[in-house]
Amino acid sequence: MRKKIAAGNWKMHTNLREGIALASEIDKKLQKSPINPEIGIVIAVPSTHLASVAQAIDTTRICLTAQNVAYETKGAYTGEISAAMLKSVGVKAVLIGHSERRAYFGETDEILTKKITRVIENDMKAIFCCGEVLEDRNAKNHFNIVENQVKNALFGFSNDDIQKIIIAYEPVWAIGTGVTATSAQAQEMHAFIRKIVENKFGKDIAENMTILYGGSVKPDNAKELFSQTDVDGGLVGGASLDSEDFYKIAASF
Ligand code: PEP
Repeated sequence: MRKKIAAGNWKMHTNLREGIALASEIDKKLQKSPINPEIGIVIAVPSTHLASVAQAIDTTRICLTAQNVAYETKGAYTGEISAAMLKSVGVKAVLIGHSERRAYFGETDEILTKKITRVIENDMKAIFCCGEVLEDRNAKNHFNIVENQVKNALFGFSNDDIQKIIIAYEPVWAIGTGVTATSAQAQEMHAFIRKIVENKFGKDIAENMTILYGGSVKPDNAKELFSQTDVDGGLVGGASLDSEDFYKIAASF
């Protein structure tokens, strides 16, 4: 069964106190008005918060996620945080290849594959982000771009390992802009991605793969987006910093 997920990406927001409070507020809302227990609730928090937020949500249904990981296993890599370190504080999943990391930190497909490998080696899930910039869409090149991102980063994985990866389609022009892809645009691309996965890994794996949409998901557009056949939930930036908005999005399935 394909897992439905509401994932929040806090990016570089909140200090530790605010982060713990936000995680606890989300939990309180989920306790007060429970939503379908099958729906995954994910928060990708800043690295400085991971260990403390892990404790704060220890007994809850919330899945602790990191926003980044080193592509090496260990050693003289000042400032980096390894997958094993993340695992050791209770992290269950890692965002890989967010467009901000691709654009500002020069992350290539090759680096992303290495990062996903580290994540899988440590029994965590990878949430692999892909998506085109506006120029690509205007030039009607968006399918090519996304196909290459998926192929280059993911096609080296085995049928076993690919099942530990969640894909998040995030058109870059919709991230943090308030412009959302229409539900038809999201559905069209998600179906296309699922087909790419099917062609390489087979129908069963493709059918069971969770494909999230990201890009200005808000409480008032989540329901329509999530009702699309191939949209299995959302990766939410701005709206995930407000516990009520994030709860409403999670309750939109
Ligand atoms: C994101 O950060 O992945 C994102 C989709 O942000 P926003 O929801 O703010 O567009």
